[in-house]
Parts: sequence; structure tokens; C-alpha cells
Amino acid sequence: MKKLFGNTLDELREITLGHGLPKFTAVQISDWLYKKNINSVEEMTNLSKKVRELLSAEFEIGVTKYSRVQVSNDGTKKYLFPAGQGKFIETAMIPDEDRNTVCVSSQVGCKMGCLFCMTGKQGFQGQLDAGEIVNQIRSIDEAGSISNIVYMGMGEPFDNLEQVLKSLEILTSEWGYAMSPRRITVSTVGIIPGMKTFLEKSDAHLAISLHTPFDDERKNLMPVEGAYPISEVIREVKSWDFGRQRRISFEYILFGGLNDTPAHVRELSRLLHGLKCRINLIRFHPVPGTPLISGTEERIAEFKDALNGEGILTTIRASRGLDIYAACGLLSTKELVGKESGQ
Ligand code: SF4
Repeated sequence: MKKLFGNTLDELREITLGHGLPKFTAVQISDWLYKKNINSVEEMTNLSKKVRELLSAEFEIGVTKYSRVQVSNDGTKKYLFPAGQGKFIETAMIPDEDRNTVCVSSQVGCKMGCLFCMTGKQGFQGQLDAGEIVNQIRSIDEAGSISNIVYMGMGEPFDNLEQVLKSLEILTSEWGYAMSPRRITVSTVGIIPGMKTFLEKSDAHLAISLHTPFDDERKNLMPVEGAYPISEVIREVKSWDFGRQRRISFEYILFGGLNDTPAHVRELSRLLHGLKCRINLIRFHPVPGTPLISGTEERIAEFKDALNGEGILTTIRASRGLDIYAACGLLSTKELVGKESGQ
């Protein structure tokens, strides 16, 4: 059965026109899908019974309930969603005083192979479609109270560009969830062609995983550096007019004794000179099979102060959901493949 959920309004129009239905039927369907959160075609009560039967013969709604949820001591939740063929993805929900941030996955596993990441170790197992991405927002317990969305879960969003852009269109369009793109951040390792298309087509914020300003060191941590060196990634974003509303930030995981020296501060300052941005420092949470270690709290604070001293707005991101492996770099569903049932 084909899915209705995850189609843009234009795609719904193609479907309705293809079935000889009036144009406005597509708007009615998008309303039921994205504003009224129905679970079956039968519930679309402003469509005639005949139209509902016509749609039901070919389509299901296509939303999926999570199959498991874990709750951390700090309130962070980690949801497990089935992604077809015995595969799973994880979604983190991070509550804060005045906001609920959802961290969504864009792929099952990841091809990028970053040395410090459990998802990278899992390898790539498949793409998510737009419906499966938006379902992570629609089908969690906090669906009605989400304030922010970050594309920082499993996968590299610009390695699944078309579906990620579609999901952003559904989330931000008036006919969809009508969320402000200023409440959404998409994070990338720096896949330049995808990043350019995203910057042209979406108004959501951009985050770039930086982790070190030095090429050789970065290549070691992130193989993508070989294809898209960070200097070129930054040259590209410097050529872009971000306007006043749109934010660019850099994610920087601190590895003890590796990327936290004064030389790193100086090179970061040189590299980011002239770019209005922010650096988010992230504590490293050791993953099995890497030689990398965490830095001390003291060193992290010193590094932050040194960057702020260079005029780069720098903050330390609080680690959330560590006890349930929901923190940055710890999402993995490798051991679950084929083990959990689809519901
Ligand atoms: S850090 Fe992101 S891009 Fe790198 S392997 Fe993990 S999920 Fe993929």
C-alpha cells in the first residue's frame, strides 16, 4: 500500500487529479494528515464515502507508532521507531525549562564513518523517506508540545537531501505543520552540494560539525574531509548572506588532549574570521573501539573562554540522556536489526 503521510501538497494534488477528484480535495487531505492527525482514511469525514473508498483501495495513512521508549534520569526520552525490513531508528526528545527539542534521524545508520560516533560504526542501512522523518515528530508522546527540531540524530541529512527537503516543506508550510523554520536546525558534516541546495531552498538554521580546524586531524576523525575539506565548506558559507534571522553554528566535540589546544583556538579564530556564528562545545562520550577520550571539565571551560576571548560566541552544550545512550554520537540500532517486532 502507498502512504499518504509524507506527501507534499503538490504531490497530494497529483494523486487527487490522477483520480479525477477536485483540486481542493488535496487541501482537505493535507489538513487531515498534518493538522488533525488522523490514523485512517475513514476518518476524513468531509470526503464522500465514495472518495474515501477510492483512496483506501490504494493508500494507507502511513504513520507508525514507536515500538519502545526509554526515559533518562534527566527527563530525556529515546524513542525507537521501526523503519521497515526489521530495521529501526532512534529519536531523542530533550525537555528543557521552556522547550521540548526533538532530535530526528534522517537515515538508518550512516555512511559517513565518523570515528567518534556509534551510528557511524553501525554503517549505512537505508534512507528514510519524508514521511518517516516527519513521523518521528508526529508520533511521539510530546507531539503537541514540540518547540524545536534538530536534524542531528542518526544519519547525514544532506546524504538524503530530497527527502529531508520534503520533510522541511511539510513541517514549515501553512498547509503542513506551519512551524517557523527558525525553530529547526539541520546539521551536516559539510557535504557542500547538498548544503548549497539546502541554503537556497530552506530557511532553517544550519549547523556544521567541525571538531577540528586542521585538515589532517579532521580527515582522521571524519573521512568526509577528504571529499569536502572544512576550509572549502567555510568558504562556501562565508559567501552566503545569512540575513539577521538565520543562524549558522558549528558543533565541536572536545576530545581530551587532541583538539583542545591553543593552536586549535588560533586556527579556529583564523578560519571563522568574518563569519557571524556560534560554536557549541560538546563533551565527548567514549564509544567502544575508538582511541578517543573525554576532556576534563576544566579544560572544556578553558577552551570555551579562549574562544570567547577571540570574539567567537561559544557555549558548552549540556549532555543529556547519557544513561539511556541518547546523547550526541551514541544513537545506534545495530544490535536491534531483526530482533524487535514492528510494533
Ligand atoms: S556523526 Fe553524524 S555524520 Fe558522522 S557518522 Fe555519526 S551520524 Fe553519521
